[in-house]
Amino acid sequence: MLDQTLEVPKPKVIAGAKFDWELVIGLEVHAQVSSNAKLFSGASTTFGAEPNSNVAFVDAGMPGMLPVINQECVAQAVRTGLGLKADINLMSAFDRKNYFYPDLPQGYQISQLYHPIVGEGEVFVELGDGTARLVRIERIHLEQDAGKSVHDMDPNNSFVDLNRTGVALMEIVSRPDIRGPQEAAAYVTKLRQIMQYLGTCDGNMQNGSLRADVNVSVCRPGAYEKYQKTQDFDYLGTRCEIKNMNSMRFMQAAIDFEARRQIAILEDGGSVNQETRLYDADKNETRSMRSKEEAHDYRYFPCPDLLPLEIEQEWVDDLASKLPELPDAKKSRFISEFGLSNYDASVLTAETQNAGYFEKVARGRDGKVAANWVINELFGRMKRDGATIENCPVSPDQLGGIIDLITKNEISGKIAKDLFEIVYAKGGVPAEIVESLGMKQVTDTSAIEAAVVKIINDNPAQVEKAKLNAKLAGWFVGQVIKSMGGKANPQVVNKIVTEKLGL
Ligand code: ADP
Ligand code: MG
Repeated sequence: MLDQTLEVPKPKVIAGAKFDWELVIGLEVHAQVSSNAKLFSGASTTFGAEPNSNVAFVDAGMPGMLPVINQECVAQAVRTGLGLKADINLMSAFDRKNYFYPDLPQGYQISQLYHPIVGEGEVFVELGDGTARLVRIERIHLEQDAGKSVHDMDPNNSFVDLNRTGVALMEIVSRPDIRGPQEAAAYVTKLRQIMQYLGTCDGNMQNGSLRADVNVSVCRPGAYEKYQKTQDFDYLGTRCEIKNMNSMRFMQAAIDFEARRQIAILEDGGSVNQETRLYDADKNETRSMRSKEEAHDYRYFPCPDLLPLEIEQEWVDDLASKLPELPDAKKSRFISEFGLSNYDASVLTAETQNAGYFEKVARGRDGKVAANWVINELFGRMKRDGATIENCPVSPDQLGGIIDLITKNEISGKIAKDLFEIVYAKGGVPAEIVESLGMKQVTDTSAIEAAVVKIINDNPAQVEKAKLNAKLAGWFVGQVIKSMGGKANPQVVNKIVTEKLGL
């Protein structure tokens, strides 16, 4: 359900046009299933292998070879469906989608047109400005990926690499519930996050593990509400499908361009052709690729090599019982258990490994302080180094140790940052480092008093000014702390400075 504290955003009206227009977007996301072997063969799915080294006979379309379904891929699709709160279909079936392409040696793709394994679900998408939208999922089906044609290695020849041929994909089809470019990116980000938590897709867009076909149409205000009430697509504008977007930035640019293109046509009295388009990032434009093909063009028919896929409810229940805690649940728990803000909880749960790290630091400590250290110091430092949590040089125990020293008043906040740098660069046990390098905070009043007196005596002019303006006491506090190498306890210094200046 939509979080009651979040508003549903109004659709963006597109600027610069004669009339007001609203955007309507539906996405078909292709997510590569994380599994060791392909959907119907035992060939490996390792990315970046020597071309044509991960190819079984059935992937190469050799005569007489038969597909055998990989149960792990089915389990991954079911887990994904459960993670998207979707209906799991205990009976699904595979169909052949017939077309010729050099990187598809079978001459057809095995997919699930009529009976997908996963039915309707939903994704809760927060937009970062206190608004959120619930995007409905229409279906998820399992299908084979095609191989890769390589056209840029030789001036006269094209090459084909069949390593990807037959790798399992989940096609996740949304309803047209997305209303702008940023929402589209937020939706894909959320899907990716959920699948990363589930371990069902690594979400790596650069390697092609996650690609989206983006359907875009525009309509006049009011039309979408009529669609919502009736679910009648006739109220919506004609859509174009932009194929194979594998970057969030380009996807947003493509949507923006496409909406403007359609509006210009409509305002000019023309009509939009339903077609498949390609986005050209160099020119920032979409171009027609082919007019929209229909299901019947592909001569879909049930794949005679595969029996319908029947799964047991008990198996689904078992998979459901073993699902990890998902992003929305983890985020609410971080808010309630550790007292985090919505923003901090979002940052910390964006990636499951980060969330796990934070939780180890926060256990038994002040959650907000832990969040502050993890987000500002640790993530900030890792960002500068391009490091990830997996190869982070500071363990949760070490960071926790630093926080404990601050909590026990043994080191000041400033020294803690120095200590963090030392641990980050050289490792070690924080408490031992503090001991051996003499970094402990000085709370001994006589030492602090001596330092205060010295600064006061050395700066008579400042003393006169401070007597007229109490705010200037801060200057003395800073000088004293500095003169003591940052180790003086600021509260104690503040107290003594105020006394000595007679403020
Ligand atoms: P196809 O398989 O021919 O691409 P689908 O019915 O599976 O067609 O729809 C593909 C996607 O297009 C879905 O994500 C759907 O939400 C979206 N869509 C359908 N109509 C519109 C529209 N008028 N504007 C934007 N998106 C749309
Ligand atoms: Mg489509």
